Amino acid sequence: MLYCKTDEEVGLLRESNLLVSRTLAEVACHIRPGVTTLYLDKLAETFIRDHNAVPAFKGYGGFPNCLCTSVNEEVVHGIPSDYVLKEGDIISIDCGVILNGWYGDSAYTFPVGQISGDVKRLLEYTRASLEDGVKAAVAGNRVGDISSAVQITAESGGYTVVRELVGHGLGKRLHEAPEVPNYGRKGTGPKMGKGLVICIEPMINMGRKETIQMRDGWTIKTADGKPSAHFEYAVAVDRGKPDILTTFKFIEEVLNKL
Ligand code: MG
Ligand code: MG
Repeated sequence: MLYCKTDEEVGLLRESNLLVSRTLAEVACHIRPGVTTLYLDKLAETFIRDHNAVPAFKGYGGFPNCLCTSVNEEVVHGIPSDYVLKEGDIISIDCGVILNGWYGDSAYTFPVGQISGDVKRLLEYTRASLEDGVKAAVAGNRVGDISSAVQITAESGGYTVVRELVGHGLGKRLHEAPEVPNYGRKGTGPKMGKGLVICIEPMINMGRKETIQMRDGWTIKTADGKPSAHFEYAVAVDRGKPDILTTFKFIEEVLNKL
């Protein structure tokens, strides 16, 4: 049985996810060639704590930092380090917070300076696959309706969908039921009710879909070394249309000024 949140609980989750949205925008102000991923992590940690919240990833399963910073062929779960960002890189930043006991979780893949046309197109298709998936997060639909929409859009661009990692329910825990795969068949999987809160997070590869795990125990990379992109929304399933708890508006205000 999937737990559906009350309107009040959805309201609290909205606040947590709004803080994640604002944290990602704060980080976006500082993404440029020459900056280390650890520097971005410190900025995010300060911002989150200044807003009376706790970084959700730090210590989660032993993860050492508050952001996952995944550059180029890194898919997800990259550990912030002294790696210096360079012109043409892309960086997926995944951020989680706990505010008033409720989790926020979302991710955005940023260009570092000017990126190639090929990579820009990968970002556009990955974002579009998220937007198409979220349209299916409507009461009465099934999880497979989201999965199938994400997959169709990503594959229509000639890209592949990572299989090993999936989206998830969100609430007083970071990962709740159901799993939300980014591939699958329409009309399959659990039925979604109003108030179900899920994270939809396509991880889309330019080359083959296979991934490998690094020896650090966290970082997931593409097996073929080609770039991968990742965008994530937290969304409350609602009647008629989805209630997206994440906003990329603040990030885009920053990016449009660059
Ligand atoms: Mg997530
Ligand atoms: Mg996330």
